[in-house]
Amino acid sequence: MSDAFVQVEEVHKTYRLGEAEVRALRGVSLQLNKGEFTALVGASGSGKSTLLNLVGCLDEPDRGRILIEGRDVAHLSDEERSHTRNRNIGFIFQSFNLVPVLDVFENVELPLLLHAELTPAARRERVEQALGDVALLDFRRHWPDKLSGGQRQRVAVARALVTQPLLVLADEPTANLDSETAAHLIDLMVELNQKRKVTFLFSTHDEKLMVRVPRIVRIRDGRTVDGVA
Ligand code: ADP
Ligand code: MG
Repeated sequence: MSDAFVQVEEVHKTYRLGEAEVRALRGVSLQLNKGEFTALVGASGSGKSTLLNLVGCLDEPDRGRILIEGRDVAHLSDEERSHTRNRNIGFIFQSFNLVPVLDVFENVELPLLLHAELTPAARRERVEQALGDVALLDFRRHWPDKLSGGQRQRVAVARALVTQPLLVLADEPTANLDSETAAHLIDLMVELNQKRKVTFLFSTHDEKLMVRVPRIVRIRDGRTVDGVA
């Protein structure tokens, strides 16, 4: 168990919309070991985003526990939780979420502006390394809207990795990409997982991508189908 980086134990989450209740997660358990690359696969509405938001400390479970490096995130102070979120976790979203008025370099630099200990020169070095990792150094002064979908998502991958997080959460990062571009993006994420030793959890509803991924966990109706690894 010492290799466990994230442990999700019997987690439940219900959304309340007026009188209606949506039981989004109904007892999910999952373990991510350090350095592991895992795909969370399930149909639309199966609970993937809800689970990623909980692991990313963006929301809290109703029942069950989430441990990161053995610590129950429910017991962290607000300050510790935002530290975990800002320093240890990188996020990649389906819709890229790049800032349109910032160029590629500035988009990737943005999360580093919270790291007051870094000098501008150290920041530039980190950004250039991250852009090199996704083969976009030559595009550093381009605007996001001049890039293809695949290039935009590679900027988002660089932005997620530039803070040197321990965990990257990618919520359907390939959903807006054609199948060839999606396959390349997965291969790139797997490569960076190995090169940078970052734990990855990415979600998808696309079965075709599964052959490219070291480990698969299926989720259906708010429950992980093959349970704890
Ligand atoms: P997925 O990402 O696999 O498509 P979600 O985690 O987004 O699944 O959603 C799981 C279920 O919870 C769905 O039925 C969805 O409609 C519902 N749901 C998700 N977010 C909310 C919310 N903020 N309020 C109410 N219902 C929600
Ligand atoms: Mg979703």
